[in-house]
Amino acid sequence: MKNLLCFLFFIGYHVIYSQSKLTEVWEPIPNEVNSFSNFSPPSDAIVLFDGSDFSKWETWGNKEPGWTINEDGSMTVVNGKGSIFTKESFGSVQLHIEWRTGTENLEKHKDQSRSNSGVFLQKNYEIQILDSYKNPTYVNGQAGSVYKQHIPLVNVSRKPGDWQSYDIIFTAPKFKNKELEKPGFFTVFHNGVLIQNHVEIKGTTTNVGKPRYSPHGDAPIMLQDHCCIPLSFRNIWIRKLE
Ligand code: MG
Repeated sequence: MKNLLCFLFFIGYHVIYSQSKLTEVWEPIPNEVNSFSNFSPPSDAIVLFDGSDFSKWETWGNKEPGWTINEDGSMTVVNGKGSIFTKESFGSVQLHIEWRTGTENLEKHKDQSRSNSGVFLQKNYEIQILDSYKNPTYVNGQAGSVYKQHIPLVNVSRKPGDWQSYDIIFTAPKFKNKELEKPGFFTVFHNGVLIQNHVEIKGTTTNVGKPRYSPHGDAPIMLQDHCCIPLSFRNIWIRKLE
C-alpha cells in the first residue's frame, strides 16, 4: 500500500511538473540595463512596513507573521512560515516595495530556486520576485514578469545582496454579475526603469495551465514565502487609486 502511494505521488508530481514546463518561455531574453536609486514615501501614502513592526500584516489564520524584523529596518522571509498578507484589502493602487535577494548558498541554487518570492496584488496577480542577476530561467517567470503572462521589457536586476525596488501601478479588474466586466492592468518600474507598460492581466497568475479570472472584490496584498534562499523587504507603501 505504501509503495503504491509513493508510486502515485511520483506519477502525479511528474505530470504536474511536465505540464508546468509547457508554459515556460525562455526566449527572447530581456536585455540587461542599469538603474537609479530608490526613494521615500509621498505624503499621501499608506505605509505598510517601515521596519518597526508587522502591525499592517498577518499570515494564514489571521496570525502574526513568523518572518524576522531586522535592526536595519527590513524584514526577512523565514521559509516555511508562510506568505504574509496586508490586513487591509485594496482595489487599484500604486505600490512601492524594496527587496533584496539573499547571498547564501548561491552555488547550490539557480533558476527558480534563488530567492523566489512574489508580490501579489489582490492575492491573485503576481509580479515575480526572484534573483534574476545572471541567473537564467524561463523569461515569463524571471524577476519583473507578470508571472507566466508578460515578460519584462528589460532585466534591471541587481546582484544578490543589493537593494532593489518595484513601483507597481495596478488597475484592478472589474466584475459584474460574477462575470469579468473589465480586465486588470499592470505598469511596473524595476529600480526606476519601466519593465511592464500597461499590460493586460489575463487572469489569476498560475504555474500550471492557462490563466483565467475568478470574480472577487478588493483583497489584500500578499508577499510570497516560496523557495530556497531567504530574501528581505523594506520600505513598503501604497497609494489608493480609486
Ligand atoms: Mg514567485
